Amino acid sequence: MTPSVPLVYWFRSDLRLRDNPAWVQACALNQQLLAVVFEPHIASTEQRWGCLQPGAHRLAWWHANVRALQLELAQHGVTLLVLRGKAVEVLQTVANKVGAVAIHCEEIAAPYERAEVQALQHAGFEVHPHWGSTLFEEQQLPFAVDELPAVFSQFRNLVERARTPVPVPVPLAAPQHVHGFSIASETAASFAPWAARPPAEQLCMDARSAFIWGGETGSAVRAGNAGAHAYLDAYFSSDRVAQYKATRNGLIGMAYSSKWSPWLAVGAVSAREIWEALRTYEQRQGANDGSYWLWFELLWREYFRWLHKQYGDALYRRRGLSEIARPVVATKHQRTFAHWTQGRTGCELVDAGMRELAESGYSSNRMRQILASYWIYDLSGDWRAGAAWFEANLLDYDVYSNQGNWLYIAGLGTDPRGGRRFNVAKQTADHDADGQYRNLWSASP
Ligand SMILES: Cc1cc2nc3c(=O)[nH]c(=O)nc-3n(C[C@H](O)[C@H](O)[C@H](O)COP(=O)(O)OP(=O)(O)OC[C@H]3O[C@@H](n4cnc5c(N)ncnc54)[C@H](O)[C@@H]3O)c2cc1C
Repeated sequence: MTPSVPLVYWFRSDLRLRDNPAWVQACALNQQLLAVVFEPHIASTEQRWGCLQPGAHRLAWWHANVRALQLELAQHGVTLLVLRGKAVEVLQTVANKVGAVAIHCEEIAAPYERAEVQALQHAGFEVHPHWGSTLFEEQQLPFAVDELPAVFSQFRNLVERARTPVPVPVPLAAPQHVHGFSIASETAASFAPWAARPPAEQLCMDARSAFIWGGETGSAVRAGNAGAHAYLDAYFSSDRVAQYKATRNGLIGMAYSSKWSPWLAVGAVSAREIWEALRTYEQRQGANDGSYWLWFELLWREYFRWLHKQYGDALYRRRGLSEIARPVVATKHQRTFAHWTQGRTGCELVDAGMRELAESGYSSNRMRQILASYWIYDLSGDWRAGAAWFEANLLDYDVYSNQGNWLYIAGLGTDPRGGRRFNVAKQTADHDADGQYRNLWSASP
């Protein structure tokens, strides 16, 4: 007999049912479930930079993934409410309305997300955050989290040595028995009156973009867990894995890198599901440089997650983990920031990169490095403002990877070798000698 008091499952950056430990744990309680999700918003601590709203591309991709999840949940009779506003306020209203006292969710080790959980706990709710976005569980790491190596290559070496013999990744199956809590449609509508917002398909079809996804249907690149798996199948059946190492610093088109990050960022696919697909590919075709480098990159993602577990809020200080902060231009900061964000710095490669980011919601790893370096070193900007702009605009925004990479480039993280300054003239010569990229994202296409 299913008890009548429902529990709330709060989807955060884990928009999937498969290989989702928090969801599996909540379903195992055999209680009725009401699922909720909040529209992305900018972490309040970053609002001082004026990046108040997530950009249209980030929102469009997120909505497409939520719609995919909503359809999947509906098959189990579970309603997914898409909510707006401050989690602590809105969740209290919703939970009180349905009589729920327990809230289950993904644990996110970043200050704003942690504060959301604490506020709910202070408001009297039983909140059960559950860690689940890494390849490894904490006890599988070959060191205690507070002894995480300061240098990424040390971390990688320890992990790689420890995974001999390589453990086979076993993503968790999606629970089959889920008890949906039926909520009256007028009650649901009172919480989310905007739910019928039209999809923004036109946003994702820009032929210049390096990540073209065709909306929900009719495209090879689709949102949601099923979309991610269809994409992975196509990816691993092509020669793109073998080409990865040679092409990963490209700037134009879909093929130069894996483009897994959009699904990973919203949690439509887990890193372990991707690892499983990578392992299957290696068993079938044999490992190659590309498959190794993709694993290597997944470890960077992993590293920044454990770094957050170790240092938490300290990673968000202006000085990061360093003793002293970097100097910034205080007087003209706002104007310089406007020039950088609008692609009007006068440096052609950077301006093209900033336009690509704003107009497509995507940017290659190489361009992200160049843009961040230019903001920090050439324009003497506050790295946190740059990180906030990326947060608003990247459709694959991921709190851990964004913060971790900005800190790394600014030289304010754990790496003792200092920051990473990129020489723009050299980068232009190395990666856009013929001007193709700068032409593609020139002011007047
Ligand atoms: C300043 C800056 C900000 C960034 N912000 C984000 C962000 O918000 N979200 C995000 O997902 N990535 C971020 N990255 C990391 C990286 O640029 C992207 O993960 C990558 O470009 C995504 O494209 P891909 O999936 O084709 O990557 P691939 O090159 O194909 O790599 C495969 C996967 O490995 C992981 N990965 C690769 N490089 C990194 C890296 N440097 N750090 C962490 N994980 C990595 C990603 O999950 C990626 O999907 C940032 C990098 C920089 C320099």
